[in-house]
Amino acid sequence: MIFLTQRQIDLISREAENAYPRECCGMLVGKDDPNGGIVVSRIVVSPNVFDETAKDRFQVDPQIQIDLFRGLRETEERIIGHYHSHPDHPAETSVTDLEKAWEPELVWLIVAVANGKAEMVKAYRIDPATGRFEELSLQIGGSTS
Ligand SMILES: [Zn+2]
Repeated sequence: MIFLTQRQIDLISREAENAYPRECCGMLVGKDDPNGGIVVSRIVVSPNVFDETAKDRFQVDPQIQIDLFRGLRETEERIIGHYHSHPDHPAETSVTDLEKAWEPELVWLIVAVANGKAEMVKAYRIDPATGRFEELSLQIGGSTS
């Protein structure tokens, strides 16, 4: 299970709408809760640094990832995953996504955008046993930033 606040969902939705018809992307920072869930504590927005001519690809700015990784050292937080949008495609993982899913512990959050409007948000993680994406139960609540 993964926990996000409505504010975090709103932020990602807004980013997805602003990036439309391209994909938006960024990182998810958070921590594990004692019950085996994952709590997202903040969203780190990144420009999509993939070739601008590509509408259906994303790449988080590597410098943002490096800075984040360094900044989280010796804290309780960690990079728990990342998010990106699917302009005019459902919030399902794509073949391209699977090809890029090299870290089984990372959560993939996908927001579907239809005609410029953000809709469904879903979370996935690779099941190491099958090598396929499994959908994670996503809980929205709380007012933590
Ligand atoms: Zn995708």
